[in-house]
Amino acid sequence: MTTSENKIFLPESQLPRNWYNIVAELPFDVPTPLHPIEDRPVEIDDYDWLWPRECLRIELQQDEYGTDAWIEIPEFISDVYRRYRPSPLVRARSLEKYLETPAEIYYKREDLNPAGSHKFNTALVQAYYAAREDNSRIHSMVTDTGAGQWGAALAMACETLGLRCCVFMIRKSFEEKPYRRYLMRMSGADVYSSPSELTNTGREILKDDPENSGSLGIGMSEAIEFVREDRGRRLALGCMSYYAVLHQSIIGLETKLQLEQVDRSPSLMIGCVGGGSNFTGFIAPFVREKIGGSPIEFRAIEPESIPTLSRGEYRYDWADFSELTPRILMYTLGHRFVPPPVHSGGLRYHGKTPVLSALVKNDVVGTRTYGQREVFDAGRLFLKTEGVLAAPESAHAVLGAIDAAREAKKTGEKQVIVFCLSGHGYLDLKGFSDVLDLDSSN
Ligand SMILES: *Cc1c(COP(=O)(O)O)cnc(C)c1O
Repeated sequence: MTTSENKIFLPESQLPRNWYNIVAELPFDVPTPLHPIEDRPVEIDDYDWLWPRECLRIELQQDEYGTDAWIEIPEFISDVYRRYRPSPLVRARSLEKYLETPAEIYYKREDLNPAGSHKFNTALVQAYYAAREDNSRIHSMVTDTGAGQWGAALAMACETLGLRCCVFMIRKSFEEKPYRRYLMRMSGADVYSSPSELTNTGREILKDDPENSGSLGIGMSEAIEFVREDRGRRLALGCMSYYAVLHQSIIGLETKLQLEQVDRSPSLMIGCVGGGSNFTGFIAPFVREKIGGSPIEFRAIEPESIPTLSRGEYRYDWADFSELTPRILMYTLGHRFVPPPVHSGGLRYHGKTPVLSALVKNDVVGTRTYGQREVFDAGRLFLKTEGVLAAPESAHAVLGAIDAAREAKKTGEKQVIVFCLSGHGYLDLKGFSDVLDLDSSN
């Protein structure tokens, strides 16, 4: 393999056979969830009406999930992964040239996945766990979604597994971003605007505030209520859970093999964080190396207006608005926080997954925040140089890489910067237009 190539491919035969279970190897504990009200840890029986049991086993770090670094990927999942994985790792040569940086910049393409983001990597597995549960009467997966990436991924996953899919989509996106709603419907999903009239949470919020634009916290409360009404329904979660992080480790494992092919090791790894799943899965196998002494830096990027890791508190908090979920130890802006209406729907969340929160707390991962305008400008520059339209969320990571490459230019350091391109922005052009003013006549 020469290093003059742009795209670094892995053959399908090298698709990783195991996920990397980072919590089993960290030198500090990642505490498991507490009961929502009682002062005790959650047990599987508390919640097996809500989550697929296998998801709970992972979340509670039971048995092998507490001890084994490697978790075998079921054959069914590998077969579906092979439709789109391994995904390419690309060297951003044109961007490097534009920036006149001595740094090398690589990006891992999760924008080519089904539904256009990393989220299918875990949606598929969650639907699989539900569908194959012993004596399963489970017929539906229920969830909430912001901009619709998670809902669209879950809709496709459910269709693959023969399950129904019910999505509570936050109202602002439901109204302003119809294309993912169409995509979900095309995959057979039921999509409801949240807050909705279907649940107590929704009805009460609408009674006080008929114009409420919704939030992921409210959507999650609605989804939970909806699951409680029918024993054949289960909840699927995109990014806050540890099981999503475990499944997303496929991103980092492939990236590691790809960098080894070109004889590189990263000096800086960057990703955007909403719940934290793409970034944590992306860095997980490298965290292992950093803890072993490698000088790798990790940088989580969040919007200025939702600075959970950068300025939130580290404490137990609920994952939803109505305090129905277990309490988890994480960085949080408070479960009643209603984020400002930014265009990066996937980053509008009040908390961050416990494992990432613990990595930040223990100074393994650093953070940075950016404003919306500079992020969208970075998205435009990425389109111009690399010909790839990043999702608004992913454009945060793009700007993180650009910033780092500019710093490397000042210091003359030959950095190897690697970032995760978590999704594409083709269904987010309205957001780009609003911020970059593309609707005006030239
Ligand atoms: C959902 C989403 C995110 C944020 O979720 P994480 O759990 O932090 O990965 C980031 N990028 C895209 C494209 C998304 O759809």
